[in-house]
This record gives sequence, structure tokens and C-alpha cells, in this order.
Amino acid sequence: MIIVLQQGLSEDQLMSIEDHVKKAGASPVLIEGKERSVVAVIGAAKLETALFEQLPGVAQVMRVSKPYKLASREVKHEDTVVRIGDVAIGGEQVVVMAGPCSVENRKMLLESAQKLSALGVTILRGGAYKPRTSPYAFQGMGEDGLKLLEEARELTGMKIVTEVMAPDKVEIVAKYADILQIGARNMQNFDLLKECAEIRKPVLLKRGLSATIEEWLQSAEYILSTGKNRDVILCERGIRTFETSTRNTMDLNCIPVLHERTHLPVIVDPSHGTGVRGYVAPLAMAAIAAGADGVMLECHPEPEKALSDGPQSLTFDMVERLLRDLEAIAPVVGKRLALSHRIPAPVRPMRKGQPAPEAVAFQGEHGAFSEKAARQFFGDKAKTSPSGAFRDVFQKVAAGEVAHGIVPVENTLGGSIHQNYDLLVEFDVQIVGETKLRVVHNLIANRTTKLSDIRRIYAHPQAAAQCERFLRKHPTWSVLQVYDTAGSVKMIKEEKAMDAAAIASSAAAKHFDMEILKEGIESDPQNYTRFIVIAREAPKGKAVRVDKVSVVYATENKPGALFRTLEVFARRGVNLCRLESRPIPGKPFEYLFYVDLTGDVHDKNVAGALKELKEHVTSVKVLGSYPSA
Ligand code: PEP
Ligand code: MN
Repeated sequence: MIIVLQQGLSEDQLMSIEDHVKKAGASPVLIEGKERSVVAVIGAAKLETALFEQLPGVAQVMRVSKPYKLASREVKHEDTVVRIGDVAIGGEQVVVMAGPCSVENRKMLLESAQKLSALGVTILRGGAYKPRTSPYAFQGMGEDGLKLLEEARELTGMKIVTEVMAPDKVEIVAKYADILQIGARNMQNFDLLKECAEIRKPVLLKRGLSATIEEWLQSAEYILSTGKNRDVILCERGIRTFETSTRNTMDLNCIPVLHERTHLPVIVDPSHGTGVRGYVAPLAMAAIAAGADGVMLECHPEPEKALSDGPQSLTFDMVERLLRDLEAIAPVVGKRLALSHRIPAPVRPMRKGQPAPEAVAFQGEHGAFSEKAARQFFGDKAKTSPSGAFRDVFQKVAAGEVAHGIVPVENTLGGSIHQNYDLLVEFDVQIVGETKLRVVHNLIANRTTKLSDIRRIYAHPQAAAQCERFLRKHPTWSVLQVYDTAGSVKMIKEEKAMDAAAIASSAAAKHFDMEILKEGIESDPQNYTRFIVIAREAPKGKAVRVDKVSVVYATENKPGALFRTLEVFARRGVNLCRLESRPIPGKPFEYLFYVDLTGDVHDKNVAGALKELKEHVTSVKVLGSYPSA
């Protein structure tokens, strides 16, 4: 049973509700959400809803139909995002856990950690206690293995996930690990589950070899049932079927089923799921395409010499290749691969003694695509600052009011967003990152508006351009320009315009509680916008892996001038990945050239080219050196 609380109820009212639950012989577990907060009534007794319905502060009392309660979406609508420091599991990011099956010795573990960390992997796996089918197989290093994992964390900053097999080992494993793994063979070790319910560390619960989704969720419920531990991550790792070609059969069906039934994050382990190295990458890609929140991969410096699970272990080269593919797939399903070296370090305050700015400024209202890009880049906890115009975003960054700004510069259907190119020249800011967002447009209207009622469309000119094919099918609609996608939704809502619709994201429809009349109206599903992240200065300290440089310059207006600037890069083998020219404001028919290079400003070739470039240009500005998306 759940008690849905009235918004703004008092502390006293909440306490009284919780007391009533306790008096009835059950335990209250408070679940706070953005949309609604509830008290879940946990316990064996079947209670009457009437017991609580009349209490002050109660909006509604509902029965939960599922055998698991706290794990169910019925009780908690919002996705659970498990946080370990700056690593988030769940939400709009895809997390990667990787490492050897077993911690075998110091050398192999530290080598694995360093290689994976350099690739941007944020969570290191490795078993110190190993559940092995044969009693004669390697059983793991025990606490010595945990100590090596701790050393690997200190060395790389990666978080640690490692298995706990017995209830009496929970304490010691929790001392070293950031996430406790419960293995497939222990999914119904109820004493172990109960022990994990008493700690405040995330638990990665693998699916049992022959467990149904319902049984799996009930095991998760054991961990959640005390209300002390709310951080359970589910991990599909293949189930046993009649098929013998692979070690197990990956049940990717479970991903959408779980997302429907539970708010808990779901990750997939294709290493144990297939048992064959060559099958891991295709299944990892399929898992992300199906909506998984991450993957767990086994890898080894020398897979053929591994003490356990060598045949399914990837080499680091294979991991690197797979990460590139996952990075390309994640935006298709509205997510971003969370790699550690992509996020710039926190920004320093303008003046000593002032608080450091935190927010990310974007143009538009809440629910704008730019806001989604900010969340994709910085994670779902990012504080966002809506701004009226692109210029305001630059201004807030330059003034130190916000830590970062995020603005679109290029769309695959609509082309360049020129204003932001000009603002990059005008303001003293640096590009510190970029991200690509798949843009899915929706036709959004007030609740009772039907498609046939529509006469007017409120749309951002870029959005209208991207939906040109759809709009052409409705020649009688007049299109009104609004310089904000989410803002256009707000307008038709506020105006109660029943003959109008807006073009915007599903997030905007949700934010303003409006109806989506048609999904996916962009002219081509390959509709991506590239956003740049700007800060007042280049990040210091943190090892972001820089591989792109943006420069803008002007040349003299005479034959061969542009050629001579480009030749500087060609001679040094520096790759140009983009060249765009823009008129110089106030100087008719004179042009600025925006150039993106592959490399780091500190690379010998790039630095040399930029130095020589100065001899051939009338002005030059390095806009930033940052990790490419
Ligand atoms: C492991 O992750 O090394 C492991 C033993 O996995 P599972 O419990 O899924 O077999
Ligand atoms: Mn293994």
C-alpha cells in the first residue's frame, strides 16, 4: 500500500502519518519525488486503506498490485539514479564498468585500471571473492584482492565494484568497495540480501541463472525493504536456456520490461551473457540500443592467461573500439556515454573568496533541447540556468555568473547557427567541450486540441526548418516564429490557444503538461545538433583528453591568402575537420575563417602550425582545445 502525500504537507503531519503506519504494525518508507512524494507501507499485514485516508496531509491511499513494492514504478515514478561521487548510474548517461573477472595479482590489476581509466571508464570491476563452479578452480585473493582494488582506486580515481558472496563478508567488502556485487548464484541468498539491506552502499544485483524478472525484482525488494539502502542496480548477465552455442542467453527483453516495472537502473553484462569474446561487443551495443543504463565488461591484459573467464575477456584494444561504437549509439536513444575524461574540471570563482559558479546557462525555457544537451554532458544533477538569448548565455559565462554555457553551433538538417560563431569572437570565453544531441521534434498542443483544429504553428525557425517536410504536408498552417522551442509550448499553453501547436521536445511537453499530437516530425531521423560548452577559461588540472582545437582567423584580401594559412596545417600533417567562413561584422565582404583541427594545442605539430599561422593572418583567436564529442 502507498500513501500519496499532499504537496506542502507539514513535518508534523508526516510524522503523524508515519506513526499511524507503525501503530498498524507496518513500516513507513518515505519516497520523495519531484512530481509526488509517498509513504510506502511495508509489512506482511493486509491493512485497510481507510485506516489512513482521513489523516491530514494524505492525498490518496492506493494498493500496490505487485509482490515487490519499493522496487516498483507504481510506488516511485521517477528513475532512480545511483550516485557514487561524480559517477551516476541511471538517468541520461550510459555508464561503463570494466575490468578483469578476478583480481589475480597487483601487476595485472593496476595495469588494467590504468588502461581503462585512460579510456575514460569510470568503474573498475574485479572479483576478490569468486563463486566458481569447481572447488578446484581459482577461488580469488580474498581481502588481499580488496586491498589491491583500493590501491587501483587511489591510483586512478575509478570507483570499485566487487562481489560479496557471504553475509559475514558484507562488512569487509563494503569497507573497500563502492558498489557491492551480488552474483547470479547468490541472487536468492536471502541472508546475504538482508545483510545488504542494512548498509548504505549501492548493490549491483545480478540476475540468477534461472530467475524470472519477478523473482529478480523480489530479491531487489529484500535490499530495499528496510528503507536504509535505496541504491540497487540490476544487472542482466544471461540466463540458462536450451541453447548451448553460447555460455548463456542474453535476455535483452528484460530491459524494456524492467524499465516499465521498476525505477531501478539496469545494466547488462554481455561477457557472462555470451561467454565468447567475439560476441561481447554486438550484445553490448544491442543492450544500449534497447535502453540499458550501462554495461559491465570483462577484460584482461592477457586474456589467454586469465585465471578465470579468459575466453570471454576482451583486450583493451577491443574495449576502446567498443567504447567508440557505444558513444555513437548512445545519442540515438537520447543518452550519452559517460567517460571520465570528457567533463571539464569545476570552474574557479571570479574573485577569491567568492563562491565558485556551478550552473550551466542555456538559451530557452526549461525543457529546451539545449537543456537536454546540458544534462547529457554534465549529468542529470546539472544546475541549469534558462536564458533569453544566446548573447545572455555568453554574458553570464563571461561575467562569472555561471560556470558554463551550452549553445548549439551546427545542425545536420538546418546547418550552422551563425550567431554563436559571432558571439565566440565577441566574448572572452573558451570552448571546453562539445556534445551531440539527437533532436526528435514533436507536434505539441493543448489537451483537447485535435490535429484537424490546427491553424497556426509556433516554432523556432531552426525547428521549423528541421520539420520542413512535415510542415509542407499542411500548407494551410501558418508558421509563427518563436526563438525558443520550449518557450513556444509555454506560449500556446498560456494563451490557451486551441487552434495552435508548437514544435518542441517531449521534455517540453512533459514540463508544461501538454499533449504530444505527433512524435518524430523532423524531416530525417538523422537529426543531430552539435553543442559547444563554454567557460570563462580553459579548465586547469583535470586530465581531460583533448583532441580538438577550434581557431578563428582573418586573412588579407588577396590571392592565395587562405591557401597559405591552410598550407601551414597540411605541411605538418595536422588534420582540418571543419572550415567555415563568416562575414566580419561591420566589414562588408571580408571574412573570418573558423577552423577545427584534430589534436591538442600542446601537440608539437599543432603548436608549430598555430605559431606559423600568425605570419599569414591579420588576426587570430584560439577558441578552445577540448575533447571532441
Ligand atoms: C562475475 O561477474 O565475475 C560473475 C561471477 O558473474 P555472475 O555472477 O553473473 O556469473
Ligand atoms: Mn567472470
